[in-house]
Amino acid sequence: MTPSASPPPIAEVLSIGDELLAGDTINTNAAFLGARARAVGIEVRSVVVLRDRLDEIVAATRAAVARSAVVLVSGGLGPTTDDLTTEAIARAAGCALVRDAAAVARLTDKFQRFGRPMPEANLKQADRPDLGEWLPNPIGSAEGVVVEIDGALVFVMPGVPREMKMMMLEQVEPRLRARHGLQPLRRRMYRTLGMGESALAERLEPVIARARTRSPGLAAVFLHYRASTPEVFVVLEALHDAAGNAATAEELAGLDAELAEALAPALYGIGEADLATRIVAAATRAGRRIAFAESCTAGLASALLSSVPGASLCLDGGVVAYDNRIKTALLGVDPALIAEHGAVSEPVARAMAEGGRRSLGSDLCVAITGIAGPGGGTPEKPVGVVHFAISDGATTSHLRLQLRGDRGTLQRSAALWAHKLLWDRLHAAGLAGLESLEPVVTE
Ligand code: ATP
Ligand code: MG
Repeated sequence: MTPSASPPPIAEVLSIGDELLAGDTINTNAAFLGARARAVGIEVRSVVVLRDRLDEIVAATRAAVARSAVVLVSGGLGPTTDDLTTEAIARAAGCALVRDAAAVARLTDKFQRFGRPMPEANLKQADRPDLGEWLPNPIGSAEGVVVEIDGALVFVMPGVPREMKMMMLEQVEPRLRARHGLQPLRRRMYRTLGMGESALAERLEPVIARARTRSPGLAAVFLHYRASTPEVFVVLEALHDAAGNAATAEELAGLDAELAEALAPALYGIGEADLATRIVAAATRAGRRIAFAESCTAGLASALLSSVPGASLCLDGGVVAYDNRIKTALLGVDPALIAEHGAVSEPVARAMAEGGRRSLGSDLCVAITGIAGPGGGTPEKPVGVVHFAISDGATTSHLRLQLRGDRGTLQRSAALWAHKLLWDRLHAAGLAGLESLEPVVTE
Protein backbone atom coordinates (compact mmCIF):
# COMPACT_ATOMS: atom_id res chain seq x y z
CA MET A 1 0.00 0.00 0.00
CA THR A 2 1.16 3.51 -0.76
CA PRO A 3 0.71 6.01 2.06
CA SER A 4 -2.54 7.93 1.96
CA ALA A 5 -2.65 11.70 2.01
CA SER A 6 -5.23 14.21 0.92
CA PRO A 7 -5.19 14.59 -2.86
CA PRO A 8 -3.34 17.69 -4.11
CA PRO A 9 -5.33 20.71 -5.28
CA ILE A 10 -6.50 21.01 -8.86
CA ALA A 11 -5.66 24.13 -10.84
CA GLU A 12 -7.31 25.88 -13.70
CA VAL A 13 -5.68 28.30 -16.12
CA LEU A 14 -7.47 31.37 -17.48
CA SER A 15 -5.67 32.89 -20.47
CA ILE A 16 -7.02 36.32 -21.27
CA GLY A 17 -6.63 38.24 -24.52
CA ASP A 18 -8.43 38.66 -27.83
CA GLU A 19 -5.17 37.98 -29.66
CA LEU A 20 -5.13 34.42 -28.29
CA LEU A 21 -8.52 33.65 -29.83
CA ALA A 22 -7.90 35.48 -33.08
CA GLY A 23 -4.90 33.27 -33.75
CA ASP A 24 -2.43 36.14 -33.58
CA THR A 25 -0.64 34.89 -30.49
CA ILE A 26 0.02 31.28 -29.51
CA ASN A 27 -0.94 30.55 -25.93
CA THR A 28 2.53 29.69 -24.70
CA ASN A 29 1.69 31.03 -21.23
CA ALA A 30 -0.76 28.19 -20.65
CA ALA A 31 1.87 25.62 -21.65
CA PHE A 32 4.36 27.14 -19.22
CA LEU A 33 1.83 27.34 -16.40
CA GLY A 34 0.79 23.72 -16.98
CA ALA A 35 4.38 22.52 -16.82
CA ARG A 36 5.18 24.58 -13.72
CA ALA A 37 1.99 23.49 -11.97
CA ARG A 38 3.03 19.87 -12.53
CA ALA A 39 6.48 20.66 -11.19
CA VAL A 40 4.99 21.91 -7.92
CA GLY A 41 2.59 18.95 -7.76
CA ILE A 42 -0.65 20.40 -9.05
CA GLU A 43 -2.62 18.96 -11.90
CA VAL A 44 -4.18 21.46 -14.29
CA ARG A 45 -7.77 20.51 -15.02
CA SER A 46 -8.40 22.91 -17.86
CA VAL A 47 -7.24 25.96 -19.73
CA VAL A 48 -9.93 28.48 -20.59
CA VAL A 49 -9.08 31.12 -23.17
CA LEU A 50 -11.09 34.32 -22.87
CA ARG A 51 -11.66 37.56 -24.74
CA ASP A 52 -10.96 40.89 -23.09
CA ARG A 53 -14.61 41.29 -21.97
CA LEU A 54 -15.44 42.25 -18.43
CA ASP A 55 -18.55 40.10 -17.97
CA GLU A 56 -16.98 37.05 -19.56
CA ILE A 57 -13.90 37.25 -17.33
CA VAL A 58 -16.07 37.70 -14.22
CA ALA A 59 -18.21 34.68 -15.14
CA ALA A 60 -15.24 32.48 -15.98
CA THR A 61 -13.48 33.40 -12.73
CA ARG A 62 -16.58 32.59 -10.67
CA ALA A 63 -16.92 29.25 -12.46
CA ALA A 64 -13.22 28.47 -11.95
CA VAL A 65 -13.22 29.13 -8.19
CA ALA A 66 -16.27 26.90 -7.83
CA ARG A 67 -14.35 23.98 -9.37
CA SER A 68 -10.69 24.49 -8.58
CA ALA A 69 -8.58 25.39 -5.54
CA VAL A 70 -6.00 27.27 -7.59
CA VAL A 71 -6.69 29.60 -10.52
CA LEU A 72 -3.78 30.88 -12.63
CA VAL A 73 -4.74 33.92 -14.70
CA SER A 74 -2.56 35.66 -17.28
CA GLY A 75 -3.13 38.68 -19.49
CA GLY A 76 -5.01 41.95 -19.46
CA LEU A 77 -3.04 43.84 -16.80
CA GLY A 78 -1.91 46.52 -19.21
CA PRO A 79 -2.73 50.23 -19.12
CA THR A 80 -5.10 50.30 -22.08
CA THR A 81 -8.89 50.23 -22.08
CA ASP A 82 -8.95 46.65 -23.33
CA ASP A 83 -7.08 45.45 -20.23
CA LEU A 84 -9.88 44.61 -17.84
CA THR A 85 -8.63 41.68 -15.82
CA THR A 86 -8.05 43.44 -12.48
CA GLU A 87 -11.50 44.99 -12.51
CA ALA A 88 -13.06 41.64 -13.42
CA ILE A 89 -11.26 39.86 -10.60
CA ALA A 90 -12.44 42.49 -8.11
CA ARG A 91 -16.03 41.95 -9.25
CA ALA A 92 -15.65 38.17 -9.06
CA ALA A 93 -14.31 38.59 -5.51
CA GLY A 94 -17.20 40.90 -4.67
CA CYS A 95 -14.91 43.68 -3.50
CA ALA A 96 -14.03 47.20 -4.56
CA LEU A 97 -11.17 48.19 -6.82
CA VAL A 98 -8.93 50.56 -4.88
CA ARG A 99 -6.16 52.82 -6.09
CA ASP A 100 -3.15 51.97 -3.98
CA ALA A 101 -0.96 54.98 -3.16
CA ALA A 102 2.11 52.83 -2.52
CA ALA A 103 1.62 51.14 -5.91
CA VAL A 104 1.33 54.55 -7.60
CA ALA A 105 4.66 55.49 -6.01
CA ARG A 106 6.30 52.23 -7.19
CA LEU A 107 4.95 52.74 -10.69
CA THR A 108 6.20 56.34 -10.87
CA ASP A 109 9.57 55.19 -9.63
CA LYS A 110 9.74 52.38 -12.24
CA PHE A 111 9.03 54.80 -15.08
CA GLN A 112 11.73 57.08 -13.76
CA ARG A 113 14.17 54.18 -13.83
CA PHE A 114 13.03 53.20 -17.34
CA GLY A 115 13.77 56.84 -18.25
CA ARG A 116 10.26 57.57 -19.54
CA PRO A 117 7.50 59.88 -18.32
CA MET A 118 4.55 57.92 -16.95
CA PRO A 119 1.43 58.23 -19.10
CA GLU A 120 -1.75 58.98 -17.17
CA ALA A 121 -3.24 55.70 -18.40
CA ASN A 122 -0.72 53.65 -16.43
CA LEU A 123 -2.23 54.80 -13.10
CA LYS A 124 -4.83 52.12 -13.67
CA GLN A 125 -2.11 49.56 -13.02
CA ALA A 126 -2.05 50.76 -9.39
CA ASP A 127 -5.65 49.58 -8.91
CA ARG A 128 -5.98 46.48 -6.78
CA PRO A 129 -8.97 44.44 -5.65
CA ASP A 130 -9.48 45.56 -2.05
CA LEU A 131 -9.15 41.96 -0.77
CA GLY A 132 -6.08 41.20 -2.87
CA GLU A 133 -2.37 41.42 -2.28
CA TRP A 134 0.25 42.61 -4.81
CA LEU A 135 2.69 40.28 -6.55
CA PRO A 136 5.81 42.32 -7.43
CA ASN A 137 6.96 42.60 -11.04
CA PRO A 138 10.53 43.92 -11.15
CA ILE A 139 10.76 43.75 -14.97
CA GLY A 140 7.50 45.34 -16.10
CA SER A 141 4.94 47.92 -15.14
CA ALA A 142 2.07 45.53 -14.36
CA GLU A 143 2.19 44.08 -10.86
CA GLY A 144 0.26 40.89 -10.30
CA VAL A 145 -2.38 40.20 -7.69
CA VAL A 146 -3.35 37.26 -5.53
CA VAL A 147 -6.82 37.14 -4.03
CA GLU A 148 -8.78 34.44 -2.26
CA ILE A 149 -12.26 33.90 -3.63
CA ASP A 150 -14.53 31.29 -2.05
CA GLY A 151 -11.52 29.43 -0.63
CA ALA A 152 -9.68 29.32 -3.97
CA LEU A 153 -6.42 31.18 -4.55
CA VAL A 154 -6.60 33.29 -7.69
CA PHE A 155 -3.24 34.46 -9.03
CA VAL A 156 -3.33 37.18 -11.66
CA MET A 157 -0.19 37.63 -13.77
CA PRO A 158 0.79 39.82 -16.75
CA GLY A 159 0.37 38.51 -20.30
CA VAL A 160 3.94 39.33 -21.36
CA PRO A 161 5.53 35.86 -21.25
CA ARG A 162 8.82 36.99 -19.68
CA GLU A 163 7.04 38.82 -16.87
CA MET A 164 4.51 36.03 -16.33
CA LYS A 165 7.27 33.43 -16.05
CA MET A 166 9.24 35.39 -13.51
CA MET A 167 6.12 36.02 -11.42
CA MET A 168 5.08 32.37 -11.54
CA LEU A 169 8.52 31.15 -10.47
CA GLU A 170 9.30 33.78 -7.85
CA GLN A 171 5.92 34.76 -6.43
CA VAL A 172 3.27 32.16 -7.18
CA GLU A 173 5.15 28.90 -6.69
CA PRO A 174 6.50 29.76 -3.20
CA ARG A 175 2.97 30.73 -2.13
CA LEU A 176 1.54 27.48 -3.49
CA ARG A 177 4.21 25.45 -1.72
CA ALA A 178 3.66 27.32 1.54
CA ARG A 179 -0.05 26.71 1.41
CA HIS A 180 -0.17 23.17 0.07
CA GLY A 181 3.27 21.66 0.89
CA LEU A 182 3.45 19.98 -2.50
CA GLN A 183 5.60 17.31 -4.11
CA PRO A 184 6.22 17.41 -7.87
CA LEU A 185 3.82 15.13 -9.75
CA ARG A 186 5.85 12.04 -10.50
CA ARG A 187 5.96 10.94 -14.06
CA ARG A 188 8.01 8.49 -16.05
CA MET A 189 8.43 8.95 -19.76
CA TYR A 190 9.21 6.12 -22.19
CA ARG A 191 10.55 7.50 -25.45
CA THR A 192 10.03 5.54 -28.65
CA LEU A 193 10.65 5.93 -32.34
CA GLY A 194 9.58 3.37 -34.90
CA MET A 195 6.18 2.15 -33.79
CA GLY A 196 2.77 3.77 -34.28
CA GLU A 197 0.58 4.79 -31.34
CA SER A 198 -1.91 1.99 -31.76
CA ALA A 199 0.77 -0.68 -32.13
CA LEU A 200 2.41 0.64 -28.97
CA ALA A 201 -0.89 0.69 -27.14
CA GLU A 202 -1.60 -2.92 -28.06
CA ARG A 203 1.67 -4.04 -26.52
CA LEU A 204 1.45 -1.75 -23.54
CA GLU A 205 -2.10 -2.06 -22.28
CA PRO A 206 -1.80 -5.65 -20.96
CA VAL A 207 1.34 -4.69 -19.02
CA ILE A 208 -0.38 -1.67 -17.52
CA ALA A 209 -3.56 -3.62 -16.75
CA ARG A 210 -1.49 -6.17 -14.79
CA ALA A 211 0.39 -3.40 -12.99
CA ARG A 212 -2.87 -1.74 -11.89
CA THR A 213 -3.82 -4.79 -9.82
CA ARG A 214 -0.66 -4.53 -7.72
CA SER A 215 -1.42 -1.48 -5.54
CA PRO A 216 -3.92 1.38 -5.22
CA GLY A 217 -1.15 3.79 -6.26
CA LEU A 218 -0.47 1.89 -9.49
CA ALA A 219 -4.21 1.58 -10.09
CA ALA A 220 -4.39 5.41 -10.13
CA VAL A 221 -1.58 5.83 -12.68
CA PHE A 222 -2.62 7.84 -15.72
CA LEU A 223 -1.30 6.72 -19.07
CA HIS A 224 -0.74 9.29 -21.85
CA TYR A 225 0.44 8.79 -25.39
CA ARG A 226 2.14 11.83 -26.92
CA ALA A 227 2.77 11.50 -30.63
CA SER A 228 5.36 13.84 -32.12
CA THR A 229 6.00 12.34 -35.56
CA PRO A 230 7.97 10.11 -35.87
CA GLU A 231 8.27 9.67 -32.12
CA VAL A 232 5.71 8.55 -29.56
CA PHE A 233 6.22 9.20 -25.88
CA VAL A 234 4.42 7.07 -23.36
CA VAL A 235 3.98 8.89 -20.08
CA LEU A 236 2.96 7.28 -16.82
CA GLU A 237 1.76 9.90 -14.39
CA ALA A 238 1.34 9.12 -10.69
CA LEU A 239 -2.00 10.83 -10.08
CA HIS A 240 -3.76 10.61 -6.71
CA ASP A 241 -6.97 8.68 -6.30
CA ALA A 242 -9.78 10.05 -4.14
CA ALA A 243 -8.18 8.49 -1.04
CA GLY A 244 -4.85 10.19 -1.79
CA ASN A 245 -2.98 7.10 -3.03
CA ALA A 246 -0.37 7.67 -5.71
CA ALA A 247 2.31 5.41 -7.14
CA THR A 248 5.74 5.86 -5.57
CA ALA A 249 8.85 6.51 -7.66
CA GLU A 250 9.96 2.95 -6.90
CA GLU A 251 6.65 1.50 -8.07
CA LEU A 252 6.87 3.40 -11.35
CA ALA A 253 10.49 2.40 -11.93
CA GLY A 254 9.51 -1.17 -11.09
CA LEU A 255 7.61 -1.31 -14.38
CA ASP A 256 10.68 -0.50 -16.50
CA ALA A 257 11.72 -4.04 -17.33
CA GLU A 258 8.26 -5.17 -18.46
CA LEU A 259 7.69 -1.97 -20.43
CA ALA A 260 11.12 -2.13 -22.05
CA GLU A 261 10.32 -5.61 -23.26
CA ALA A 262 6.93 -4.54 -24.61
CA LEU A 263 8.29 -1.43 -26.35
CA ALA A 264 11.48 -2.90 -27.86
CA PRO A 265 12.93 -2.17 -30.39
CA ALA A 266 11.30 1.26 -30.61
CA LEU A 267 12.24 2.30 -27.06
CA TYR A 268 15.39 4.41 -26.91
CA GLY A 269 15.19 5.96 -23.49
CA ILE A 270 13.40 6.40 -20.20
CA GLY A 271 13.19 9.93 -18.84
CA GLU A 272 13.23 13.48 -20.11
CA ALA A 273 16.44 13.42 -22.21
CA ASP A 274 15.73 13.40 -25.93
CA LEU A 275 17.28 11.26 -28.64
CA ALA A 276 19.98 13.74 -29.69
CA THR A 277 21.01 14.29 -26.07
CA ARG A 278 21.30 10.54 -25.55
CA ILE A 279 23.41 10.09 -28.68
CA VAL A 280 25.77 12.88 -27.69
CA ALA A 281 26.12 11.43 -24.19
CA ALA A 282 26.72 7.87 -25.39
CA ALA A 283 29.07 8.71 -28.28
CA THR A 284 31.07 11.13 -26.13
CA ARG A 285 31.40 8.57 -23.32
CA ALA A 286 32.54 5.95 -25.84
CA GLY A 287 34.84 8.32 -27.72
CA ARG A 288 33.05 7.76 -31.05
CA ARG A 289 32.97 10.57 -33.62
CA ILE A 290 29.93 11.03 -35.84
CA ALA A 291 29.36 12.34 -39.36
CA PHE A 292 26.36 12.67 -41.65
CA ALA A 293 25.96 12.45 -45.41
CA GLU A 294 22.63 14.12 -46.09
CA SER A 295 20.73 14.47 -49.31
CA CYS A 296 17.00 15.06 -48.75
CA THR A 297 17.46 16.42 -45.20
CA ALA A 298 20.16 18.87 -46.32
CA GLY A 299 21.87 19.16 -42.94
CA LEU A 300 18.90 18.79 -40.60
CA ALA A 301 20.19 15.63 -38.93
CA SER A 302 23.52 17.35 -38.21
CA ALA A 303 21.79 20.52 -37.04
CA LEU A 304 19.52 18.63 -34.64
CA LEU A 305 22.49 16.85 -33.11
CA SER A 306 24.42 20.12 -32.87
CA SER A 307 21.59 21.68 -30.85
CA VAL A 308 22.70 19.59 -27.86
CA PRO A 309 25.20 21.48 -25.67
CA GLY A 310 28.50 19.62 -25.88
CA ALA A 311 27.82 18.14 -29.34
CA SER A 312 31.32 19.11 -30.43
CA LEU A 313 32.63 16.32 -28.20
CA CYS A 314 31.28 13.75 -30.70
CA LEU A 315 30.01 15.51 -33.85
CA ASP A 316 32.56 15.84 -36.66
CA GLY A 317 30.21 17.38 -39.21
CA GLY A 318 28.50 16.38 -42.39
CA VAL A 319 28.15 16.81 -46.09
CA VAL A 320 25.01 18.25 -47.60
CA ALA A 321 25.04 16.21 -50.80
CA TYR A 322 21.84 17.50 -52.29
CA ASP A 323 22.91 17.40 -55.90
CA ASN A 324 24.32 14.20 -57.38
CA ARG A 325 27.46 16.06 -58.38
CA ILE A 326 28.22 16.60 -54.66
CA LYS A 327 27.52 12.95 -53.86
CA THR A 328 30.28 12.11 -56.32
CA ALA A 329 32.68 14.98 -55.69
CA LEU A 330 32.64 14.97 -51.86
CA LEU A 331 31.40 11.49 -50.92
CA GLY A 332 33.03 9.54 -53.73
CA VAL A 333 29.79 7.95 -54.93
CA ASP A 334 30.38 6.31 -58.32
CA PRO A 335 28.24 8.14 -60.95
CA ALA A 336 27.58 4.76 -62.57
CA LEU A 337 25.87 3.63 -59.35
CA ILE A 338 23.60 6.68 -59.43
CA ALA A 339 22.88 6.15 -63.14
CA GLU A 340 22.00 2.50 -62.59
CA HIS A 341 19.96 2.66 -59.36
CA GLY A 342 19.00 6.31 -59.01
CA ALA A 343 20.10 8.66 -56.21
CA VAL A 344 17.35 7.34 -53.92
CA SER A 345 18.41 3.73 -53.61
CA GLU A 346 20.09 1.27 -51.30
CA PRO A 347 23.43 1.13 -53.18
CA VAL A 348 23.73 4.92 -53.23
CA ALA A 349 22.79 5.24 -49.55
CA ARG A 350 25.46 2.67 -48.67
CA ALA A 351 28.05 4.38 -50.86
CA MET A 352 27.22 7.76 -49.28
CA ALA A 353 27.67 6.37 -45.73
CA GLU A 354 30.92 4.62 -46.57
CA GLY A 355 32.30 7.49 -48.64
CA GLY A 356 31.25 10.06 -46.03
CA ARG A 357 32.94 8.12 -43.25
CA ARG A 358 36.14 7.89 -45.29
CA SER A 359 36.26 11.48 -46.46
CA LEU A 360 35.37 12.95 -43.04
CA GLY A 361 37.52 10.50 -41.09
CA SER A 362 34.78 9.74 -38.56
CA ASP A 363 33.98 6.55 -36.65
CA LEU A 364 30.36 6.44 -37.78
CA CYS A 365 28.56 7.99 -40.72
CA VAL A 366 24.83 8.00 -41.39
CA ALA A 367 23.57 8.65 -44.91
CA ILE A 368 20.07 9.84 -45.83
CA THR A 369 18.69 9.94 -49.36
CA GLY A 370 14.98 10.17 -50.14
CA ILE A 371 12.12 11.93 -51.85
CA ALA A 372 10.79 14.79 -49.71
CA GLY A 373 8.16 15.85 -52.24
CA PRO A 374 5.70 17.21 -52.98
CA GLY A 375 6.96 16.48 -56.53
CA GLY A 376 9.49 13.96 -57.76
CA GLY A 377 7.69 10.75 -56.76
CA THR A 378 7.22 7.78 -59.10
CA PRO A 379 5.22 4.55 -58.65
CA GLU A 380 8.39 2.66 -57.68
CA LYS A 381 9.75 5.50 -55.56
CA PRO A 382 6.83 7.50 -54.19
CA VAL A 383 7.20 10.68 -52.14
CA GLY A 384 8.34 9.67 -48.66
CA VAL A 385 10.67 6.86 -49.69
CA VAL A 386 13.90 7.28 -47.76
CA HIS A 387 16.99 5.09 -47.79
CA PHE A 388 19.29 5.23 -44.78
CA ALA A 389 22.67 3.63 -44.33
CA ILE A 390 25.05 3.65 -41.41
CA SER A 391 28.67 2.63 -41.63
CA ASP A 392 31.38 2.13 -39.02
CA GLY A 393 34.00 0.99 -41.50
CA ALA A 394 33.53 -2.69 -40.67
CA THR A 395 29.82 -3.03 -41.48
CA THR A 396 27.28 -0.92 -43.28
CA SER A 397 23.60 -1.50 -42.64
CA HIS A 398 20.70 -0.19 -44.63
CA LEU A 399 17.07 0.67 -43.99
CA ARG A 400 14.36 1.65 -46.47
CA LEU A 401 11.32 3.44 -45.09
CA GLN A 402 8.13 4.84 -46.50
CA LEU A 403 7.51 7.97 -44.42
CA ARG A 404 4.36 10.08 -44.49
CA GLY A 405 3.62 13.78 -44.23
CA ASP A 406 4.34 17.05 -45.96
CA ARG A 407 7.85 18.06 -47.00
CA GLY A 408 8.82 19.52 -43.63
CA THR A 409 7.46 16.54 -41.70
CA LEU A 410 9.24 14.10 -43.99
CA GLN A 411 12.54 15.89 -43.57
CA ARG A 412 12.22 16.02 -39.78
CA SER A 413 11.14 12.37 -39.62
CA ALA A 414 14.06 11.31 -41.79
CA ALA A 415 16.53 13.28 -39.65
CA LEU A 416 15.19 11.71 -36.46
CA TRP A 417 15.20 8.23 -37.98
CA ALA A 418 18.87 8.79 -38.85
CA HIS A 419 19.46 9.57 -35.18
CA LYS A 420 17.59 6.41 -34.20
CA LEU A 421 19.88 4.32 -36.45
CA LEU A 422 22.85 5.90 -34.71
CA TRP A 423 21.42 5.18 -31.29
CA ASP A 424 20.60 1.58 -32.31
CA ARG A 425 24.16 1.07 -33.49
CA LEU A 426 25.59 2.48 -30.23
CA HIS A 427 23.09 0.40 -28.25
CA ALA A 428 23.98 -2.81 -30.10
CA ALA A 429 27.63 -2.18 -29.24
CA GLY A 430 26.70 -1.80 -25.58
CA LEU A 431 27.49 1.94 -25.67
CA ALA A 432 23.99 3.42 -25.20
CA GLY A 433 21.35 2.52 -22.63
CA LEU A 434 17.80 3.45 -21.66
CA GLU A 435 18.73 5.25 -18.45
CA SER A 436 17.46 8.72 -17.67
CA LEU A 437 20.23 11.24 -18.17
CA GLU A 438 21.33 14.37 -16.49
CA PRO A 439 21.98 17.17 -19.01
CA VAL A 440 25.33 16.65 -20.74
CA VAL A 441 28.34 18.94 -20.50
CA THR A 442 27.66 22.56 -21.32
CA GLU A 443 30.34 24.18 -23.41
P1 ATP B 1 1.56 44.44 -19.77
O1 ATP B 1 0.89 45.60 -19.18
O2 ATP B 1 2.86 44.16 -19.11
O3 ATP B 1 1.62 44.56 -21.25
P2 ATP B 1 -0.72 42.65 -19.92
O4 ATP B 1 -1.17 41.74 -18.86
O5 ATP B 1 -1.59 43.74 -20.30
O6 ATP B 1 0.69 43.10 -19.44
P3 ATP B 1 -1.26 41.85 -22.52
O7 ATP B 1 -1.40 43.24 -23.04
O8 ATP B 1 -2.49 41.09 -22.37
O9 ATP B 1 -0.43 41.86 -21.19
O10 ATP B 1 -0.24 41.06 -23.42
C1 ATP B 1 1.09 41.51 -23.53
C2 ATP B 1 1.85 40.67 -24.53
O11 ATP B 1 1.92 39.34 -24.09
C3 ATP B 1 1.25 40.63 -25.92
O12 ATP B 1 2.28 40.62 -26.88
C4 ATP B 1 0.53 39.32 -25.94
O13 ATP B 1 0.37 38.82 -27.23
C5 ATP B 1 1.41 38.46 -25.08
N1 ATP B 1 0.58 37.42 -24.45
C6 ATP B 1 -0.53 37.63 -23.72
N2 ATP B 1 -1.05 36.47 -23.31
C7 ATP B 1 -0.25 35.50 -23.79
C8 ATP B 1 -0.28 34.07 -23.71
N3 ATP B 1 -1.25 33.44 -23.04
N4 ATP B 1 0.69 33.38 -24.33
C9 ATP B 1 1.68 34.03 -25.01
N5 ATP B 1 1.74 35.37 -25.12
C10 ATP B 1 0.79 36.11 -24.53
MG1 MG C 1 -4.14 41.82 -23.54
